Amino acid sequence: MGTPAEEADISLCTLALSISQKFSDREFNKIQLRKMRNFLVEAKKSPFYNKLFSEAGVSTWPGEKLSDMQYIPIVSRAILNRLAKSEWLNPEIPELLRGHIVSTSGSTGNPLSFYFAKQSGIRMRAQFRYMLDYFSQTVDALKQPVRVFNLGIKTWVYPWLMVVSGQDLENNEGRTRLYSLLNETHPDILFTTATYLRQLSYWMRRDKSFYQFKFIVYTAEPLSQADRSFFVRFFKCDLFSMYGIRECGLLAIECVKTRKFHLIREWGYLEIVDELGHPIPEGNFGDIVYSFYENIVNPFVRYKIGDRGRLLKTNGCPCGNVAPYLEFSGRTSEFLVSASGKLIPCLHLSHLISESLSDEIHQVQFIQINPGKLIIRAVFKNPNKPDVAEKLFRVVKKYLQKEFVIKLEKVMEIVPLSSGKTPLLVKK
Ligand SMILES: [Zn+2]
Repeated sequence: MGTPAEEADISLCTLALSISQKFSDREFNKIQLRKMRNFLVEAKKSPFYNKLFSEAGVSTWPGEKLSDMQYIPIVSRAILNRLAKSEWLNPEIPELLRGHIVSTSGSTGNPLSFYFAKQSGIRMRAQFRYMLDYFSQTVDALKQPVRVFNLGIKTWVYPWLMVVSGQDLENNEGRTRLYSLLNETHPDILFTTATYLRQLSYWMRRDKSFYQFKFIVYTAEPLSQADRSFFVRFFKCDLFSMYGIRECGLLAIECVKTRKFHLIREWGYLEIVDELGHPIPEGNFGDIVYSFYENIVNPFVRYKIGDRGRLLKTNGCPCGNVAPYLEFSGRTSEFLVSASGKLIPCLHLSHLISESLSDEIHQVQFIQINPGKLIIRAVFKNPNKPDVAEKLFRVVKKYLQKEFVIKLEKVMEIVPLSSGKTPLLVKK
């Protein structure tokens, strides 16, 4: 728990979030523009952004409208990583107020360390609290404080009641401890990654163990419809998801009615852009870039997250939230490259596999060494069942046409990275 003043601040922010989800686009544009102007004034104090803005001819910012943001160049994790610490830092923030240093998980091969301002921590904790309140409306009233069981997500933004490492799933002793902790402490909600959810269901089935959660919140990787239905049946409760990044907090949470993702607009500005960083019309897919107002120590301005997606209007969502939907098409790094150089999203392929083979295949991972050459690593539910490999080849070949030479590698397990994420595509 934080200090009483921090707790009060978090409660106010949570309340503000639940109210502002109903603001119109016009109202939000005004708020966003004001916040963006203040934010950019702070960002410009760091030598890096000062130079970037003046080279781009926008050093006299503030702009008149949010679309003026397009004149600011995009920054990526790789660009920020190359900077000396002092270049990216706002020198006016005294050392004591800089917050603590955190790092991204490095699943993209480019881990980034930065100061996470105290204020961002407060905002992020409010986002989590708002998210839990929002999902909780789907079940009978939960006793406060809500008891959350965190499996394998390294978190520092929320005082989760119980945190268990994901590695505990891999040995008998760890699992015995985990099951008895569940039965002794009676948590309401499971908070985990899609990978650990898959592993938990696998081991619970083998160990003939079960625990009834009120609902499950999973993050990090999208699940196919077939996988979701399987987990709903297995865990006998609903599943919700959210979309966030360590650098900038929660960007979107799943709608309890439509199951699409509502954008969270309060503390940052999300744009969908083409390769040149120009905004593209609503409804079209592009790269997601984000400006996060709440960290003025190490600012993220037009930061390329590494995911692709699009924004869609809600037209009156039945849940009452008017924020646009954010739809993803996968990580930019998760595209297969065919022999002729065509890019093919692997997320869609993994969903096709789980839809036609959910009873036979537990998990897949793609390994690409050269364009047009693909290894599919797969964990079979029953390795002795005939014809599964042929069926898998049929699904994959139909999707990839004749552009790939495919090899299958049957494995016992696909081990997640220490962050709890399992990359869908590994490029060697
Ligand atoms: Zn909704």
